[in-house]
Amino acid sequence: MVEATTYTLIDGRKISTDIKNEIAQRVAERKQLGKKIPHLAIILIGDDGASQTYVDNKVKACKTVGFHYTMMRFADTISEERLMKHIDHVNNDDDVDGFIVQLPLPDHISVEHITEKIRSDKDVDGFTNHNFGSIISKNPLLMPATPFGVMELLRRYNIETEGKHAVVVGASRLAGAPLSMMLVEQAHATVTICHKYTVNLPNYTRSADILLVAVGKPGLITADMVKEGAVVIDIGTTRVEGTEFAKGWAIKGDVDFKNVAPKASFITPVPGGVGPMTIASLLLNTLRATELRNP
Ligand code: NAP
Repeated sequence: MVEATTYTLIDGRKISTDIKNEIAQRVAERKQLGKKIPHLAIILIGDDGASQTYVDNKVKACKTVGFHYTMMRFADTISEERLMKHIDHVNNDDDVDGFIVQLPLPDHISVEHITEKIRSDKDVDGFTNHNFGSIISKNPLLMPATPFGVMELLRRYNIETEGKHAVVVGASRLAGAPLSMMLVEQAHATVTICHKYTVNLPNYTRSADILLVAVGKPGLITADMVKEGAVVIDIGTTRVEGTEFAKGWAIKGDVDFKNVAPKASFITPVPGGVGPMTIASLLLNTLRATELRNP
């Protein structure tokens, strides 16, 4: 039987609103001082509905904080070569401070080629090898947006991390791998990384003071896999269809929230936890890129 404790719900929506307000304030100050206003450029390829929604939300966020933005749309038949030329153009446009290419890309275009083509000082998604590697340098540059958002949540909820055992489930280039490095370098945690080939996953998750999950398998983490009092951060977001949901579908995390929450000290909901932080991180990175280029 699960013993009921009182947990703190980590409210990503509130924190992301706080961050947007702080950024809007800094933009207003820059404007008053006659300094450059941050400018984010977004490239969207094809007409995937989910990508369109993500991009719409990014544009809306730019408007909220007072950033300038440029939207560039191309058909999904665009060749990699032509896309590279457009990227070059944005790389060389002095007015653009931050620049993202919305993923996923059509199959004939290499994500790696495109990512590496973006100038690292404008790479506000923090995807380039240069920015990825800078996590372990003395001078971290533009941080991968989702892990950056997770680190902000831990920081703003004053969650103790130093010397704690953080177990990261999922080791992707986008989420788990950079998050693990950030937890070591910036939060001084002792980190275990688990992935698809990990034998006896519960053995590791049960020893976590902080459990962070980025897999994309709803319900992967059950209550028996979590230590009493653990901090639980759920990065997973999977669209699940079902007649039981009002809209016919719902977004689910990797953690069985209902049964895990009573054992946790802090826990993120899905949606409304890590998700809203990714856009907040993108805005923070764009402001940082602007400040680095135009102090
Ligand atoms: P991904 O590239 O598919 O990576 C998934 C990772 O999970 C891989 O490292 C994989 O291991 C590992 N894995 C697969 N099955 C596993 C299992 N049974 N046990 C342990 N590890 C397992 O996905 P991703 O891009 O990292 O995204 C992961 C989830 O986070 C998705 O639901 C995604 O939608 C969500 N996400 C959310 C946001 C946000 O803004 N909230 C941002 C990014 C991602 P291998 O490396 O061995 O294959």
